[in-house]
Amino acid sequence: MNRVLVKGGTVLTMEPGDRPRLADVLIENDVIAAVGPGLEADAEVIDATGTIVLPGLVDTHRHVWQAGLRGLTGDSVLKDYFRSIRFQASGVYRPEDVQVGNLAGMLEAIDAGVTTVLDFCHAVSTPDHADAAIEGSLESGIRTQFALGFSDVPGQDASLAGAEGRLALATRLREGRLAADDGLVTLGIALSDLPEVGIDRIRTELTGARRLGLRSTTNGLAILFHEPVDDLAVFGEAGLLGPDLVWVHLNYATADQLRMVADSGGSVATCTEAEMAMGMGRPATERVLQAGGHCTFGCDVTTSVSGSLLQQARTAMQVGRLLAADEGMAAGRAPESVPPSCETMLKAATIWGAEALGQSARIGSLRAGKQADVILIRADAVNTAPVHDPYATVITQSHPGNVDTVIIAGQVRKRAGVLTADWGSVRTRLEESREYVAVTVEKTGGFFPDPPLDLPW
Ligand SMILES: [Zn+2]
Repeated sequence: MNRVLVKGGTVLTMEPGDRPRLADVLIENDVIAAVGPGLEADAEVIDATGTIVLPGLVDTHRHVWQAGLRGLTGDSVLKDYFRSIRFQASGVYRPEDVQVGNLAGMLEAIDAGVTTVLDFCHAVSTPDHADAAIEGSLESGIRTQFALGFSDVPGQDASLAGAEGRLALATRLREGRLAADDGLVTLGIALSDLPEVGIDRIRTELTGARRLGLRSTTNGLAILFHEPVDDLAVFGEAGLLGPDLVWVHLNYATADQLRMVADSGGSVATCTEAEMAMGMGRPATERVLQAGGHCTFGCDVTTSVSGSLLQQARTAMQVGRLLAADEGMAAGRAPESVPPSCETMLKAATIWGAEALGQSARIGSLRAGKQADVILIRADAVNTAPVHDPYATVITQSHPGNVDTVIIAGQVRKRAGVLTADWGSVRTRLEESREYVAVTVEKTGGFFPDPPLDLPW
């Protein structure tokens, strides 16, 4: 048996009612065996002195395949992101580009303390592309829900046409390599966008997913393709809302609409930076909470924003506070409190994210019997010491460089601040892939935003 004892850290279990305390975490193989003070075991000891120990972060919306195009749309509005990446690069990518994109993107997530990602994969132009994305994620060692994209991709294989083609691929994966619901990679469905395809196709996709026992995710109201569509109302009237849906970008949802999602048991993914960066409107975090729902976070597109989930949580919190205070200030009243709290934001980034993926019985908190997804954040660093409130240290101060150790399913993936993977060789592959994609777009007269400098590569 492989035993690891994480000893002497300030432990935030994120279990209801637990308070921060000095404690140890004992891991046996891929499972947490015990959490408590003074644990002893014949085990590899990881000294957690000076760190905050918490469950790995859960990202509920990220297009991981795009890692090779980081920063490409740093100054772009949503339509130029669509034009250059979503509806162009997605069709240019070969399976090997998706594979190394997923590997590199998942390593970026691990480095930042993320142990689970809902990978909204909309670069599946052939069945091989789906397999390549899964391979890249597996190679990184991260836990992921691979959400197979159902949107059409330019130049896609004829076998993937229509909802039926994609459902056939989903069925093949479900009956094959992703049959298990307790594997490191599980299967989900990323629905087409309602304004593009209409409710009949959405019904086919969603009922097909449910027949396969799969959870789904969908873009929400801020994605205004041709004309505004009240997708929550349309889903509601069609009887399609449910607890197995993660709604993304509900920036323009009303309080009633957010209550509809909460009442259905569905979840909301806020992609704070991407939503603000690309003109998608005000993040919904604090309004989701007011509607009785649980918010979660996603980094969405590292072509435009950072891959730090803590950054998404921090920005969401401060924007929520800004908007809450703004109302009172306009009426001449200074705020008496500044919700949401750092603890609430950390719940959103851990246990509520796990709930959104239907996996809160297995991950999202530190409890005996759960999967051993554990991270250590340095609390003795130049930007984190001293600690008064560990929730605040994590949410307001910490960055990926402070993530000391990342353990996923009992395997150490980052140790003493360094990834265990060979980033140098991954980077070489990623740069070769980037070169291929950029040259192909140029040759075919495609569109990439102009860089401000003529760079030597
Ligand atoms: Zn997205």
